[in-house]
Amino acid sequence: MNSDARAGAGAATGTRSAVVTVGEELLSGATVDRNAAWLGRRLAALGAPVARLWSVGDRDVDIADAVRSAASAAPLVVVTGGLGPTADDRTRDAAAAALGADLVEDETLLAALGARYRAAGRDVLPPEMRRLALRPDPGLGLANPLGAAPGLAFALGSEGRPAPVAEARRWVVLLPGVPREMRGLFAQVERLARDTFARRLRPVESRVIHTTGLPESQLAPRVEAALGEDRRGVEVAYLPDLTGVDLRLTVRSAPPEAVGDDSAGAALDAAEARLQPVLDGLRFAAPSGDLVEAVQVVLEARGWTFATAESCTGGLVAERYTRRAGASRTFVGSIVAYDNDVKVEALGVDAGALEADGAVSEVVALQMVEGVRARLGADCAVSITGVAGPGGGSPDKPVGTVWIGVAVPGDAGAGRGAGRVRAVRHAFAGDREAVRERAAQAALHMLYRELGGG
Ligand code: ATP
Ligand code: MG
Repeated sequence: MNSDARAGAGAATGTRSAVVTVGEELLSGATVDRNAAWLGRRLAALGAPVARLWSVGDRDVDIADAVRSAASAAPLVVVTGGLGPTADDRTRDAAAAALGADLVEDETLLAALGARYRAAGRDVLPPEMRRLALRPDPGLGLANPLGAAPGLAFALGSEGRPAPVAEARRWVVLLPGVPREMRGLFAQVERLARDTFARRLRPVESRVIHTTGLPESQLAPRVEAALGEDRRGVEVAYLPDLTGVDLRLTVRSAPPEAVGDDSAGAALDAAEARLQPVLDGLRFAAPSGDLVEAVQVVLEARGWTFATAESCTGGLVAERYTRRAGASRTFVGSIVAYDNDVKVEALGVDAGALEADGAVSEVVALQMVEGVRARLGADCAVSITGVAGPGGGSPDKPVGTVWIGVAVPGDAGAGRGAGRVRAVRHAFAGDREAVRERAAQAALHMLYRELGGG
């Protein structure tokens, strides 16, 4: 084992772990690797975040290679899958070979298997099931209350060779692949890790900041500049999707000898404070991560109602808004005015303006938003009219051109109909779906900001 290996247990950085998921179905795409994602979260919370992850098929040589690499990369390795009784379940043997450990029949595991069979009304344990009573020597069997195959823990010394359980410095733990069983056994992994690594377990603390309105390519440089060089261990990850970018700030907690030290929380607070100026007008507060939630909270606080007039989004804002329970407290309705005649008839848009400026124009966006607010009797409204593509673009209104209108009440006492009304032109990138999603999000964001959110 090289020095890189021992770095995985360094006191300065805290313990790290490695994960191996086994199963042909994970590679072919037939099954999504839920175990890796779940373990990633739980091992970070435990204080041994995953440094590396391998996924391999059911072949002995692939499993053995991955287990060997993982065992030299981190002092705690979790392997899932391939522990069952069938011929394609190779993990037990391959891991034992890779680690140079023996497998022995364990009486407790055998008794548990027998009891499980009797409880199912069968007397004789089928011969192929006896393999499930094997455990590493040196090592432990981990009882599986939810299935037949127990978990197995290989005890290794600091150099990575098999060592007596009482002297173990490193562990390679095998868990069944069935996600429910794997999760059911994880508490035993946590216990092992706490006993062995104790003070070197440093849980990861994290905080997510939701943003919208600026693409990752423009947001990231501003964030990096604002955070500067001295980050007190805070790392930032960018998680973009069509509607915005989540920033995930993470920091590992202080070593336990720093009693009462909340340097992790303080470091996150400091990072967030530095980011505030560049996130102003971009961030929104919603535990669900959905901007709709943030808008609903603001509207409810004001006691105001909301309506939409949508052309190219075809009701997407209304659909998103009403997907959340409790929408009825603030949502009045929507007019999907796709055809120009409907814009005129249902929203009162001026036919002359449509003729002169076209449907995708400031004047039409303004008339749509005022029209829907008046006709549906709402306090606030948004309107969307644009070119979603792929056809319909022109040199002065290319695909992605969208006008968004917003109307909100004015100051107290001004009464309905008064207030602020404005429209903004956007140029959204992407295909039809992207333009529509982005337009819907931008409309909600514009309303949110007009209401003083963010
Ligand atoms: P069994 O005793 O059931 O055979 P096992 O330990 O051999 O358990 P596998 O045969 O690898 O586990 O997988 C059993 C089931 O669990 C399969 O349906 C498989 O698709 C699913 N599974 C295995 N690994 C994962 C994973 N990483 N993510 C999601 N599902 C998984
Ligand atoms: Mg199996």
